[in-house]
Amino acid sequence: MTPKIIAVDFDGTLCEDRYPNIGEPNIPLLNALRELKKAGLIEIILWTCRKGNELDNAIRWLWNHDIQPDAVNSNLPRIIRAFGGDTRKVYADLYIDDKSFECKFDDFLNDDVDTTALTEEAYSKFVKGVIECRMYA
Ligand SMILES: [Mg+2]
Repeated sequence: MTPKIIAVDFDGTLCEDRYPNIGEPNIPLLNALRELKKAGLIEIILWTCRKGNELDNAIRWLWNHDIQPDAVNSNLPRIIRAFGGDTRKVYADLYIDDKSFECKFDDFLNDDVDTTALTEEAYSKFVKGVIECRMYA
């Protein structure tokens, strides 16, 4: 199965919004993303307005939480190849952002992911993480 792409916001989503500092981590979301990535089910794009040193700090913070994003504010190489170019909007199967209108995690999980490969524990952690990120909004 090709991993699904998740574009995830930083401030207010992966951590509490204390920009330009870094707020308390959203542990349920971090745990869910780490587990799904290690299982080979997802690739992660860090999708943030941060730049320069603040962006470097966010990437380092993610590494310290044992998550290495596959891309930062850019498309994955396989998407650039598939689209025949690099689109300004990064392509993802799911966007997680505290400013989103609605999280479509149920559709994502039910329709797109091979849920037979997703453990019940990983599923519940993922859903809980998404819900937690909404609580920071
Ligand atoms: Mg945000």
